[in-house]
Amino acid sequence: GQSLAKKEERIDGQIKKRGHVAVAPFERLSNNRSTVTLSVPNQSPMERFSKHHLNVTQLCEQSWCEIKVVYGFLKPHMKRREMRRTAVTTGASIHLARELEANPDAVTVVVHTREDREALKLINLIQMVPALEAGQLVREFPVLGLLDGVFFLGVVDELYCSKSGDLVLSELKTRSHNSLPHPAQAKGHSLQVGVYKLLFDSMVQGSMKRDQLLHFLKLRPHQAFGSELQSYAQKLGLLAVTFGELVDHLLVVLHFSNLQPIDKLCLEYRHQSSGVLIGNREVEFEETQLRAELRDYLAFWRGEREPHGVDIEDIEEAWKCRMCPYEESCDWRRSRLQEMMVDGSKKAK
Ligand code: SF4
Repeated sequence: GQSLAKKEERIDGQIKKRGHVAVAPFERLSNNRSTVTLSVPNQSPMERFSKHHLNVTQLCEQSWCEIKVVYGFLKPHMKRREMRRTAVTTGASIHLARELEANPDAVTVVVHTREDREALKLINLIQMVPALEAGQLVREFPVLGLLDGVFFLGVVDELYCSKSGDLVLSELKTRSHNSLPHPAQAKGHSLQVGVYKLLFDSMVQGSMKRDQLLHFLKLRPHQAFGSELQSYAQKLGLLAVTFGELVDHLLVVLHFSNLQPIDKLCLEYRHQSSGVLIGNREVEFEETQLRAELRDYLAFWRGEREPHGVDIEDIEEAWKCRMCPYEESCDWRRSRLQEMMVDGSKKAK
């Protein structure tokens, strides 16, 4: 209710001032209770949520708050509502305009199966390799592969050659505020481009394996393309008519390409409503550190450790909960508030 919201505002205010708080009465915190099991013994989140692979963007969500990731699976209607809201506010139109600028002749192809859908991404990838080799800018470049035993999918916003000959990966981020992001948000963005580089580099270095791709994406190699996709592939001069044949072709294209690993990682921030550039940031690539972070993130997915939520005693973190759709019912947050309340009353005695 309103009193709870006000009280919690005051809590956050006090955290900012003193680093700890005496918290609202316990019964207030127990309102809106809807306890869910955040982790299940002997069942990893990959198993529990039937995940065979991860999207790179899921890692970024995880870097924000792992409890929020779990709630996203347990309360999908709330996640869908949040996604609809953020789709309106994330500058989807700026991304689309850029994509159309790079591919003015983009065509729509009807797909009938999961294999068709994934094949279309691989066909786009095959088409972009020679363009990139020729030094052209490419957009929406799919990256995929195995990292630390988990298969990842992602789509890179832009790849291009700089004047000095560096291969640059650039990710466009739109912001509702005309300012650069908070470090907590920037952390997820840096993680995203770092993981894209790991995937891209291993693809061009020949690490992608046919069996891994088919196994982790649960795709049928002998599945023939639908008639529309077949005609599209033929028009592009591709001989493949099944998903497996297309994967073989992709591996040959990557094997004989002269693409090199990415040299530079950039983030471009634009104001969402005006499209005006806010700023560019170059991201340092520290492979050892990134791989160590990745191992820790994946330990959650493998069920090797409990999920971590926001540290609500840290003012650099606590504000995340106020933007979260699960704030009212979050068990992690509630139990941290209770712990703080107990600490606060001990100190008061
Ligand atoms: Fe995470 Fe805070 Fe949301 Fe709970 S309320 S899921 S701790 S962001």
